[in-house]
Amino acid sequence: MNSDVKQSISSLIQAKRHHYINFLKDIIRINSTVIRHGLDGNEAEAQSFIMEYLAGRGLEIHTHEPEYKNFEMFPAYSPGHSYKNRPNVVGISKGSGGGRSLILNGHIDTMEPQYLDQWTHDPFDPVEKNGILWGVGSCDMKGGLAAMMLAHEAVTEAGVKLKGDVIIESVVDEEGGGNGTLDLCARGYKADGAIIAEPTELHIQPASRGVLLLEIEVEGRATHASLKWEGVNAIEKAICIIQDMREMEREWLATRTHPLLPRPTVGIGQIEGGVAGSAVPGTCIVRVDIKYLPSVYDLKGNRSDVDSEEIRKEVIDRVMGVCNADPWLCEHPPKLSFYQHCIPHEIPGDHLLVKTIAALAKQITGEARISGFPAGCDARHLAMQGIPAVIFGPGNLQHAHSVDEHVSLDEYIRCLNVIAHTIVDWCGVA
Ligand SMILES: [Zn+2]
Repeated sequence: MNSDVKQSISSLIQAKRHHYINFLKDIIRINSTVIRHGLDGNEAEAQSFIMEYLAGRGLEIHTHEPEYKNFEMFPAYSPGHSYKNRPNVVGISKGSGGGRSLILNGHIDTMEPQYLDQWTHDPFDPVEKNGILWGVGSCDMKGGLAAMMLAHEAVTEAGVKLKGDVIIESVVDEEGGGNGTLDLCARGYKADGAIIAEPTELHIQPASRGVLLLEIEVEGRATHASLKWEGVNAIEKAICIIQDMREMEREWLATRTHPLLPRPTVGIGQIEGGVAGSAVPGTCIVRVDIKYLPSVYDLKGNRSDVDSEEIRKEVIDRVMGVCNADPWLCEHPPKLSFYQHCIPHEIPGDHLLVKTIAALAKQITGEARISGFPAGCDARHLAMQGIPAVIFGPGNLQHAHSVDEHVSLDEYIRCLNVIAHTIVDWCGVA
């Protein structure tokens, strides 16, 4: 990139810092929470704000409510959600031709803020103090979405004409499993690369872990606790299965590694069972979070792909192994259902998009850190369609979905700056 162009973009971004911060505050003020983990959602008002903003800057606008018939042939969609009045918004800026195209994908939905009495400020009334902005979605990921939209705006305002197309996707229902992005993939939105600005603290992340959520429903026989031997305690049976899940995790931790990602984990997230301390419980439901790797490396560094069907089978075999050793569970095997699945994603660490972002991050922020995203995110849907996707955004994932969610404003502006320069380098100047 010509250094004059570079300089004019950086100066413009510096001059418009307040505008960028105010824009982020504006979208935090609009409640766009998902309802019951995405079964429904409040995204409409925020999406019409985004649509008007992008349209006002001359982008071609498409809006669609996700439709199951478009994407139910894909693996890992989330069933049963309503998309009435929950549109995705796509803003397209056409290049002059001959350059690479880029998708900038971010989700507008946030989780419902929890433990409101513990928040220092109203989650929907953003507060700025000492370079930090507090508010729900500031980190996950209205900060990232705003940074991407405004990065493109900065490139345009600096008078740069691009060769490649830029496609801005503001999607619904990422928190409920990612059907919003899946619908756009099914409708054929494609590009030569994609950035998803989930919170990575400006780490450049070409890989993410997969997630399987498993429900195990254990049956027992309810009775009065004083006649315990007449009943079968479903919670105590479930504990045997939980112990084995923990053993499986220990084995995974010891044997499965990836150079960019944390090791695979198995977490017991929820237990429901019993009616009173004085009764033998007749049922126990355990919900388990299984995070797995896109590929594993042996001690010599040899890589092998991980097949999600094999992970499911391995988990089922483990549970059945416990059942086979227990006469009651053998006759009354628990009901297993994988109720959510987010496949992992991975593109080569030396992919041109990774190298482009890394070089610019180094120039602009002084460092380029490459690692992996420990959770699942929409990068997987794009990668499934053959679109190389990199996760790169402001904020620390630890602060997502948590009390006093916040983002560093310097990091937000640095991210915006790196993405603006990436757009120019990736798409090319006409
Ligand atoms: Zn997110």
